[in-house]
Amino acid sequence: MSKRAINFSAGPATLPVQVLEEARRDLVDYQGSGMSVMEMSHRSPEYDAIHRGTSDVIRTLMRVPESHAILFLQGGASQQFSMVPMNLMHPGRRADYVVTGVWSKKAVKEAQREGAVRVAATTEDESFSRIPAASELDLDSGADYVHITTNNTIAGSQWWTTPDTGSVPLVADMSSDIMSHPVPTERFGLIYAGAQKNLGPAGVTIVIADKELLERAPSTLPTMLQYRTFAEKDSLFNTPPCWSIYVVGLVCRWVASQGGLVAMERSNRAKAGLIYDLFDTGDFYRGTVASESRSIMNIPFRLPNEELEKRFVAESKAAGMTNLKGHRSVGGIRASVYNAMPRSGVEALVDFMREFERAHG
Ligand SMILES: *Cc1c(COP(=O)(O)O)cnc(C)c1O
Repeated sequence: MSKRAINFSAGPATLPVQVLEEARRDLVDYQGSGMSVMEMSHRSPEYDAIHRGTSDVIRTLMRVPESHAILFLQGGASQQFSMVPMNLMHPGRRADYVVTGVWSKKAVKEAQREGAVRVAATTEDESFSRIPAASELDLDSGADYVHITTNNTIAGSQWWTTPDTGSVPLVADMSSDIMSHPVPTERFGLIYAGAQKNLGPAGVTIVIADKELLERAPSTLPTMLQYRTFAEKDSLFNTPPCWSIYVVGLVCRWVASQGGLVAMERSNRAKAGLIYDLFDTGDFYRGTVASESRSIMNIPFRLPNEELEKRFVAESKAAGMTNLKGHRSVGGIRASVYNAMPRSGVEALVDFMREFERAHG
């Protein structure tokens, strides 16, 4: 097999090599069907089993209660920034948003087109270096919903408690930490996540939502922008992104084979801890997020100067580690270490970091 890069991309991101190999094995002839999943009718019994299989394994892993539907949509998490307010802002047309990073801001911008948005808390004036404490949330009990971003892919912070929003539904963008650790799924009115960070290839967006909440949507909405359309037809109203749904199923079964979300959290914490230890035991690498808000998925950091950061990116690339350059809006370095990043990949990065510090520190 050709050599695989140690890929720290924030998304699309590295996938378990076992999943890629399984997809390759079945690529041309899916389990004796004589065709690829890419070539199958989405109405065929073979595809139906794949579709249900992916939904079932998500339900099991995330303990999704029967009150909640699991939907497969397109348009990425970005389309959810609009679909959430279009469907859920009714009749109050007001919502609370907790702004913890660039993606939350984008969600606010789209929601403002649909109704009145209140910022219930923000840490923007602290460069999004932490998640606000529960006591800082100024929640409106009459809001149609409260929106949070559970993991801030660019800032590198993550919510470690699920806020109590009383009877107001909680909506979460989990694009970059879905299935990274167990969450009380039943406490969320709606969860959405683009697949391409922690779940599989781009092209499918997973939505997990309270079925009753989905009934709120005004029927004047375009058919394809109503959650109800997808809920009523098991996400088979039109052609779904079959291949992406298939690979998400393989990734979820891989997660299950590793021991599920409890085991994922244990391994993610151990991997991230190897990098955070370098911040806590020296001053060459400087983390940008308060300890209690640190993400176990995306780890941004700075070096003593930008010249060294450029060298770090170039030399790490030469050593087989890709996509460590920080997001263009914040600079520095970012290591994205999703579920599928093997511990050996993080160990290679940490060895490289120690070596780089010895040479340049
Ligand atoms: C990547 C990302 C998005 C945007 O996802 P698309 O699928 O590209 O639209 C939104 N929110 C978060 C938290 C992300 O990490």
